[in-house]
Amino acid sequence: MSYLCWEESVDLRQYNTFNVCSIARYLVRIRGMEDLKKLHVSPRFHGLRNLVLGGGSNILFATQDFDGVILKNEIGGIELLSQDDHSTVLRVGGGVEWTSLVKYCIENGLGGLENLSLIPGTVGAAPIQNIGAYGAELSDVILSLEIFNLSTGEVTTMSRDECLFEYRDSIFKRELKNVFITCLIIRVNKERFHCLNTEYSSVQDILQEQGVITPTIRSVSEAICILRRRKLPDPKIVGNAGSFFKNFVCDDFLSQSLVKRNPQIPIFPKPDRSFMIPAAWLIEGCGWKGKRVGEVGVFSNHALVLVNYGSRGGEIMSMAKLIVQDVQAQYGIELTPEVNIA
Ligand SMILES: Cc1cc2nc3c(=O)[nH]c(=O)nc-3n(C[C@H](O)[C@H](O)[C@H](O)COP(=O)(O)OP(=O)(O)OC[C@H]3O[C@@H](n4cnc5c(N)ncnc54)[C@H](O)[C@@H]3O)c2cc1C
Repeated sequence: MSYLCWEESVDLRQYNTFNVCSIARYLVRIRGMEDLKKLHVSPRFHGLRNLVLGGGSNILFATQDFDGVILKNEIGGIELLSQDDHSTVLRVGGGVEWTSLVKYCIENGLGGLENLSLIPGTVGAAPIQNIGAYGAELSDVILSLEIFNLSTGEVTTMSRDECLFEYRDSIFKRELKNVFITCLIIRVNKERFHCLNTEYSSVQDILQEQGVITPTIRSVSEAICILRRRKLPDPKIVGNAGSFFKNFVCDDFLSQSLVKRNPQIPIFPKPDRSFMIPAAWLIEGCGWKGKRVGEVGVFSNHALVLVNYGSRGGEIMSMAKLIVQDVQAQYGIELTPEVNIA
């Protein structure tokens, strides 16, 4: 019978894409439901703060020490549950890398994830902020997920509707925080019944550049990968966690008053009748794009991305706070972080 190993004084630098150093008191690797059950009956667990960690690509360790236990999700497995002429249902372990799942789907001619190509991190973290890119979101494909409640030890299945998915948000960022997402059930389409989403002009441009006349799941995925490599910094080269802030979403009334005060402000209507203002535009408008202060900076190609040249998490937080203050002062808009702060 396997036992849980409590690694002590673990440097988390290798486990977060910001590449910041923070020392965790303990780290436990979770490889399945049995490990979670063992952890839950361990007296040591209940006296400690805990944090579930996937690929560390959406987290900022803001302090030098994490005085608690990191639960490193290593639950693997992609299992075909059922299929019909139109679609396939998969059960995917929460510790599977998101990019491996996308690759699996593309290699098996399954559509639905191609616009989410090259998003770092694990499958289990994808519901936390309902990952999205180029007009697609996790909520388009997810049917349900399984959680282990770290407070009660209960295992529950939740339907997509119960997850309360929104733009970069879900119940797991609000009412239901102390849970471990162990697996996802998703439905993806067989290629001949799949409707590709190439509505973004930047995607169309790359497809044209690549000489693609009839797009396929694979060619759209490749186009998205090209776009992302051009636009975003590679965390292996410079520490970052993708977009640090969320775009600002507001109602019609507020959007009109913001336009009155700033006629230049770009506002995009969303299908749910709300309006979105790109946070990158606001940050750039305050002169932050490409700026570097000590060992932290704002990426020169994309004002939403904070980059770490060797600082500690606290310095990154300080820069983020200055950006929030400037945007508030100049535009009267309060930016909120997309990245989780630990
Ligand atoms: C270069 C780059 C580009 C990115 N582009 C995008 C993008 O286009 N769209 C997008 O949406 N995101 C993007 N991101 C953000 C990130 O990739 C996603 O949020 C991803 O889902 C995070 O996965 P992770 O495993 O790394 O999560 P982590 O960073 O490990 O964790 C993030 C949060 O989720 C919690 N968590 C993790 N796993 C679980 C679990 N199994 N159960 C419960 N809680 C859990 C953690 O406690 C933490 O609060 C990008 C990041 C980078 C670095």
